[in-house]
Amino acid sequence: MAGVSENIIDDAVNTWMAICDEVAIPLQHQLYTMICVRAENFAELFYGMILQDNQASKFLTQVQVQQRLHASMVEWLKGVFKVSQPDGIKSKVERQLHVGMVHARFQVPLSIVAKSARKMKQVIAKDLQDSDLQRNELAKAICLVYELFDHAIDIMNQSYIENFESQTRNDESYRRFAVGQNIAAERERLRACLLSWERGFLLHANQPENCCEMHKIGASEFGLWFRHKAMTLFKGSMEIFEITQLISKIDDDLLLKVQDRDGDGDGDGDLSKLVHEIDETVASIMFMFSSMFDRFLEVENGRDDLTHLLNRRFLPSVLSREISMSIKTGNRFAIMLIDLDHFKRVNDTWGHGIGDAVLKKAAEIIRNSLRIGDFVFRYGGEEIMVVLVEVNKEIAMNVAENLRTKFEEFDFSMNGNTITNLTVSVGVALHEGHPDYERLINAADDAMYHAKKNGRNQCVLAKTD
Ligand code: GH3
Ligand code: MG
Ligand code: MG
Repeated sequence: MAGVSENIIDDAVNTWMAICDEVAIPLQHQLYTMICVRAENFAELFYGMILQDNQASKFLTQVQVQQRLHASMVEWLKGVFKVSQPDGIKSKVERQLHVGMVHARFQVPLSIVAKSARKMKQVIAKDLQDSDLQRNELAKAICLVYELFDHAIDIMNQSYIENFESQTRNDESYRRFAVGQNIAAERERLRACLLSWERGFLLHANQPENCCEMHKIGASEFGLWFRHKAMTLFKGSMEIFEITQLISKIDDDLLLKVQDRDGDGDGDGDLSKLVHEIDETVASIMFMFSSMFDRFLEVENGRDDLTHLLNRRFLPSVLSREISMSIKTGNRFAIMLIDLDHFKRVNDTWGHGIGDAVLKKAAEIIRNSLRIGDFVFRYGGEEIMVVLVEVNKEIAMNVAENLRTKFEEFDFSMNGNTITNLTVSVGVALHEGHPDYERLINAADDAMYHAKKNGRNQCVLAKTD
């Protein structure tokens, strides 16, 4: 069975047998007979409840239940409770693995499966209570129902998780493949497609005799890309939902109004209004899809657009890895939090554009002053975090001090604006063996704060224990 090892199957078979061994064979047969007689009713009651459940009913329709699921549920119930030899039990286990795989393929949430199983157990237990089983046997039979259900669901879950993960891995490798396909160029092509659709629309809209040739945006090259690729590439981003709605607004509403404008006696008066509305909707699609692409590129590259430094999202994983390496090898590392002094003044005096260019230059200075093995992150607006690998206190402080003097001496003047005296305050913290990286960040932050408080343009070493 795909994704699940033989060991897991053997364990599941042994557990299944142990559960059955708790109950005398005749009672097992009695339970099985009763389930066979009542299986149709159980399935009916069960799906009746499920279809009323808001969350679960999203995955099912009345037709699916009638055509397929009802019969499968009856078969599944009989299969679980049939009294079997070890070989038979193995095929029962494999059946549960298969069900889990199907659930994963349709992405049925585990919570729904668990909720459904709970309902089915209740239905059967209630029926057993109304049977003529003696108290002792009744207790054993109900226990068996609960144990077998729980075990079957456990097996399904294991296979669900295995299959779900391999599906996710496939999605991930597809994403990587797609990224390799020069996504920035694809963005430009799509922008052109969208504009070309709009040009085509304008042409036809102005010539009523051509209106019937007007293509829907969903049928355009952009629409094709959106349906077939964007859904995978940008899965989960909120823009997907919004773009879907905007496309449908154009195709199912605005275009029909444009085509209908002569037929319903409204006259052509509304045309310019409609064209304007379509133009604005296309602009919104363009905006949504550009920002979706930008974010995607930033995340995939892991780099910040302005400074090309690493995105701070990666800081936890870098620090965790450095901490475990440091514990293993005994080599220390340090972090530096660098904050540009009075940077607001740069923006206020020369404007944001110059501010951006200065920030970019500052990032370049920092990156070029470090070894290739060090990590540089854009931590906040004008705050940069550096991870200095394999250093001690002295080296770390030297690097910080070097940087500080470089900034002090650097001439940031540009575009005829004299920009000098741009300094930095630096907090340095050496990792001293504590497994929690948050402590290290807080220590660097405190040290940087002290550097500011003591008059800026200085480096302060944090006290770490
Ligand atoms: P301090 O010495 O206390 O750090 O003073 P400051 O002015 O640098 O500090 P504050 O935190 O008050 O302001 C930071 C400024 O950095 C405010 C914000 O406009 C600017 N900034 C942050 N990110 C960017 C950016 O990406 N581009 C530009 N141009 N400015 C930015
Ligand atoms: Mg700051
Ligand atoms: Mg600052």
